[in-house]
Formats: sequence, C-alpha cells, structure tokens
Amino acid sequence: MSKIAIIGAGFSGLSAAAYLCQAGHEVHVYEKNGSVGGRARQLYTDEGYMFDMGPSWYWMPGVFEKFFADFGHTVSDFYQLKLLDPSFDIIYGENDKMSIPENFSKLCTLFESIEKGSADKLKTFMEEAAYKYKTGIDKLVYKPGLSYREFLDMDLVKGVFKLQVFTSFSKHVRSFLSIPN
Ligand SMILES: Cc1cc2nc3c(=O)[nH]c(=O)nc-3n(C[C@H](O)[C@H](O)[C@H](O)COP(=O)(O)OP(=O)(O)OC[C@H]3O[C@@H](n4cnc5c(N)ncnc54)[C@H](O)[C@@H]3O)c2cc1C
Repeated sequence: MSKIAIIGAGFSGLSAAAYLCQAGHEVHVYEKNGSVGGRARQLYTDEGYMFDMGPSWYWMPGVFEKFFADFGHTVSDFYQLKLLDPSFDIIYGENDKMSIPENFSKLCTLFESIEKGSADKLKTFMEEAAYKYKTGIDKLVYKPGLSYREFLDMDLVKGVFKLQVFTSFSKHVRSFLSIPN
C-alpha cells in the first residue's frame, strides 16, 4: 500500500482517487477551491441561485456508466437523467432565438430550412463523428499513455487521416456548411 497525494478535486482527481482507494492505497486529495468539482463545480449565491460553472452537455455517457460500474453502482444510484426537448436554445437577441430539437430528423429539417442540402451534409458529418468517437473510445481513451507504443495500432495508423486529428474543428465544420467567417 502506498500513501498517495492527488492535487485537485475535479473529475480527474476524484476518479483517480476512487480507483487508487479501490486498489488499497491511502489517498489524500488536495483542492485549492472551497468545494470539489473543479470546472464542473456549482456556485451557490447568497440569493439562493445555483449556477453550473462548466458542463451543460452529458457527453460520453458510457464513460460515466463504466466508472460507476467499476464500483458496483449504476449512474441512477446517484442521479437521474432527463432528456430535454428542445435540447437548448441559441439566443441571438431579444425575440430572436433558435431552439435545437432533441429529435435528429427534426434537427435535419431545421438545418434544411436554413441551408438547402445541409441535412445530408449533417448526416455525413454525424457518420464521420460516430467513427471518430468509436475509434477514440476503443483505441485511445482507456490507454494509460505510458508509452507511444500503445498507440502503434494499425487501425489508428490507417485512420489518422480519417480521424482528422490535424484539422481544426472550425475548418472541419466549414467544409460541410456555408458558415460566414
Ligand atoms: C464553461 C465550460 C463548459 C463546459 N462544458 C462541458 C460540457 O458541456 N460537457 C463536458 O463533458 N465537458 C464540459 N466542460 C469540460 C469539463 O468541465 C472538464 O473537462 C472537466 O470538468 C475537467 O475535469 P478535470 O478534473 O480534468 O480538471 P478540473 O475540473 O480543472 O480540475 C482541476 C482541479 O484542480 C484544482 N487545482 C489546480 N491546481 C491546484 C493546486 N496547485 N492545488 C490544489 N488544487 C489545485 C482546481 O481548483 C480544480 O478543482 C466544460 C468546461 C467549462 C469551463
């Protein structure tokens, strides 16, 4: 058993601490803020308001499911997920907003109403994104990152151009849609 100090009580520090405790180590987490959560912490004001300081989107749900399963739990032991529809609003100004629907075919209709032909491009974009997500999760995310040899994987080497790791996201999106600069 080792005595281990972790600096920072964000998602990374807390999850690392949980795994190290599970492995039988004595773990101490040091946090400079008055509350845990890091960039995902919540701010409570004296007036009774609560602000989420970071994440809005519940991305990569499988990562959370795997984490809790590793400790014999499920996500629903700790929080309930509720699908929002619309997913979110983009507010351009007073009385000027766009609601983004949860349903994908409604989203395609919205895209098409803004730019003719963009629904098909959105579908292609999503297919590519699914490939990148799957490759990222299967081949990258759970690797410990101790040696470059971990990444000498034929699928990764072959897919490096398909993954577009050297292209900015802005440039990538603009290759699909006519977004003004
Ligand atoms: C505005 C915003 C929106 C976001 N939206 C999303 C989203 O929609 N979906 C999503 O998945 N992600 C989102 N993210 C990203 C997500 O919040 C972060 O990726 C995640 O919280 C990072 O966790 P972390 O533990 O790696 O780092 P951090 O949360 O940064 O944790 C690091 C911790 O270390 C502490 N620390 C640093 N230095 C020291 C020190 N010397 N001594 C003691 N403590 C120290 C910090 O105070 C902090 O608590 C968003 C982030 C922001 C800011």
